[in-house]
This record gives sequence, structure tokens and C-alpha cells, in this order.
Amino acid sequence: DTVTVADLAQKLALKGGEVVKALFKMGVMATINQSIDHDTAVLVTEELGHKAVRASSDDAEDALLALVDNDQGEAQARPPVVTIMGHVDHGKTSLLDYIRRTKVANGEAGGITQHIGAYHVETPKGVISFLDTPGHAAFTSMRARGAKLTDVVVVVVAADDGVMPQTKEAIQHARAANAPIVVAINKIDKSSADPMRVKNELLSEQVVAEDFGGDVQMIEISAKTGQGIDDLLDAISLQAEVLELKAVSEGRAAGVVIESSLDKGRGPVATVLVQSGTLKKGDYLVCGVQYGRVRALFDETGAQPDQAGPSIPVQVLGLSGVPDAGDDFVVVEDERLAKEVAQQREVKRRESRLVASAGSRMEDIMAQLGKGEGQQVLNLVIKADVQGSVQALSQALVALSNEEIRIDVIRAGVGGITESDANSAAASKATVIGFNVRADAAARKIIESNGIDLRYFSIIYDVIDQVKQVASGLLGVEI
Ligand code: GDP
Repeated sequence: DTVTVADLAQKLALKGGEVVKALFKMGVMATINQSIDHDTAVLVTEELGHKAVRASSDDAEDALLALVDNDQGEAQARPPVVTIMGHVDHGKTSLLDYIRRTKVANGEAGGITQHIGAYHVETPKGVISFLDTPGHAAFTSMRARGAKLTDVVVVVVAADDGVMPQTKEAIQHARAANAPIVVAINKIDKSSADPMRVKNELLSEQVVAEDFGGDVQMIEISAKTGQGIDDLLDAISLQAEVLELKAVSEGRAAGVVIESSLDKGRGPVATVLVQSGTLKKGDYLVCGVQYGRVRALFDETGAQPDQAGPSIPVQVLGLSGVPDAGDDFVVVEDERLAKEVAQQREVKRRESRLVASAGSRMEDIMAQLGKGEGQQVLNLVIKADVQGSVQALSQALVALSNEEIRIDVIRAGVGGITESDANSAAASKATVIGFNVRADAAARKIIESNGIDLRYFSIIYDVIDQVKQVASGLLGVEI
């Protein structure tokens, strides 16, 4: 039960330095980012002339965590969760479609598989779950929110095209997530296919095939003819076996939202991946800032299972509103608790969006910080080619905020940088980030005449790194 000095200072509406000073007087040496224990926190709070009361707004959340902690059954083997990544046009969608079409057991007679954001297949070597949203943005978005979903990354490389920029990015993502890679060398049916070249190119990325003395399985496949797909599934199962994946399958379910939408007839719909416990029809749950009771569960075949265990994706009906992809969910005792926690989260989320706006160019912040003023604000306008990237970037960058610097996204959206983007950037002195998009002529004019800081990127980690670098360089602390 600890709290960081920075958090405590924020709660007391004091500067971090003042709390550090008070602690120092008490003989406790702590920096802003260090944690102090509960008793010390109470002492220093009183030392500073405040009354220490455990904030009641934390109570429900605490109760919730206690509940989850108490559920400890025996961990059992669970299926692997797989994400497919790779360069555009190398066959990610085709591969996911082929596996779904041929391997998902159709629950209803002649049933057509539904797109719910994920599906699971049964192979002779066991169950495998696939996240059905190819593209790196969704993956990064999840990771940016702290969700560890993927156990194995399948990197698809077209045998007639070889390693391309997004192939490298996929490898980076897998490494950052600490997930092992299985390579699918696709389009092997083409006469121009050259799997040896692919292996050689991967070698320069330190992804070394087994026949080159490495430990990465590389399977030649065709998502068109189906050649090698069974071998790929075997390879995934083999990789999963090495990982010894385990989860508790009894008790309250907890997991992550993969996809969500508002359905005209059915209301809020969320596909969740259960990570532990078993989710059942009738359960009460908190899901991000939403709550509800599970009215129905649907799987990828349109069938309505009564429950779903670890690593199994399932669509949930009955939530109060639409949660965000990447939100966690947890089953709780009753509706009152579910509602209370959800509402507190909502309040917290709203508070964190309310910000004083005194935007600055990155360079200006440096100057201002030198003067030792209070918290600085870096306003950002983010435009990207796909919604997933917008979300991923916004979340990751806002999360870099700390006591001394607040990173605030004042405007974000899909598409090129337009005149109105540039105008709002000018109005709030924001830095403009273009991710795989450019500014149009009208926007460029405004950007130039207002001296707006405009930066283009194509790799999410570069954006994060650059913003991080600027911020920590200025502050002299790591964030
Ligand atoms: P994605 O952008 O990675 O999702 O790639 P797609 O799955 O959309 O595939 C891009 C193109 O390659 C489409 O025209 C597919 O039909 C084609 N394609 C995918 N896999 C194969 C394959 O194994 N063999 C051949 N010949 N074409 C393929």
C-alpha cells in the first residue's frame, strides 16, 4: 500500500518539491517519483497541515481489486492468442480469412462465421485464438494501454516481395511486446516466390530461421490455395507449448475489450477476450467506464455459448454503454459495485481531460521549464491514416504526462492535416503530428505563417520516442 510523492502532492494540491521538503524534515529522503508507504504518507500529510483521510473515491476500486485478488484457483494450460502482422498486401487478411473459413467450427447448420474481432479454431494440437484485426495500430493501441494480449506474433512476408518497412515494424512490435515470432512466408504458389531470399533478408533483422541455425519457425504457405496452413497452425501450437501458457479458469472472469460498437438493435456490443476465470451469462461486470449484466454471449459462429474461459473471445451484450478497445473488464459481485466503480472511473477520466491550456512549441517548453515554473502543457494535434493509430498515439502520448509536464491532445482524427486542424493548432499553440498523412496546401500556409511546429512520422514508436526525448531532456527526469 504505497503512493508516489508526485501523486500525494497532486492530491494535496501542492508542488512535489514541497512534499519532498517536508519528508526531508521528517528524515525521509525521497524523490518525486519514489513511493512512500501509507504511514509515512499520513504523517507527511499531517505535517503539511492536512487531515489524512483515505479518499472515499478510491474505496470501490479497492474493493474491486480485493475481490479479484481473492480469486486464486489453480492455473491450467490455456490456448495461445495470436496476432497476425506484416507489410500491406502481404496477405494478412487473406490468411485470417482462410483460417476462419476452413477451420472455425460452424455452430449453426450452414452457419456463416461472423466478424466479431477475434475467433478461435480447434486443431489436432489444440485450440488457437486469433485476433482478427490485422494492422499494427490496433496492437499498439492495446499495448499503449497496458494490455498484454498477444502470446505469439505471426509475421506474414510475401515470398515474391520480401522484407519491407512494415515487416520490420512488425518485428519491432513483437519484440517490444516480448512475444515470440512465427514467420509465414506467404504466396508460395506464385512462380516469382523466393522463400530463400525472405529468410536471408530476415537474417539481417536478426530473425533467424531454424535451418539457418536460429530458433524462429518459418513456414511456407499460400493463403490462396491453403498450402502449408496446417503446418503453420502446428508451428503456432509448438511455439505456444514452449511458452507454457497458463491461466486460472475458475472463478470471476477478467480480460480485455478487443472491439466494440453500438448496434442498432442490440445496443452496446463488445468483443472481449477472457484472460482468466470464466465469463458467464448473467454475470455483472465493469468494463472500462461502463458496467452491466451479461444478457447474452455470442461466439464467432453466431452461436450463444453459456460461458467463455481463458483465451476465448466472445461478444458481450448488456453493457450500459460502448467501452473502448483495450479497456479491461472484470466480473463483480453485484450491480451496485459495478455501477459505483464504473462511475468513479468516469469521473476520473473526465478530470484527466480537463486541462488548463497554455500550449507551447516543444522548444518553448524548454525555455519555460528553465524558469522553473509550474506544470507545463504540451498541446498536440494528431492526424493519422487510420483510427487505430489516432487512438494509439493519443493514449500513448497523454500517458507520458507527469507532474511537471502535461501532454494534452486537443484535436485528433483520421485524414490529412487540414486548414481547420492548422487553425486550432495555431489557436492553442499546439504541435501538429502527422502520422502517415500530410498537410494540404491551405494548412501548410497557416502552419508556416504561424510558425507552428509540424512533424511527420510513420512509426508509432518514433513519435513516442521523440516526444519522450524532448520532455525528459527538458525536465531532467525520466518519464
Ligand atoms: P494484407 O494487406 O496483408 O491484409 O493483404 P491481403 O490479404 O489483402 O492480400 C493482398 C493481395 O494478395 C490480395 O489480392 C490477395 O488476394 C493476394 N494474396 C494473398 N495471399 C496470397 C497467396 O498466398 N497467393 C497469391 N497468389 N495471392 C495472395
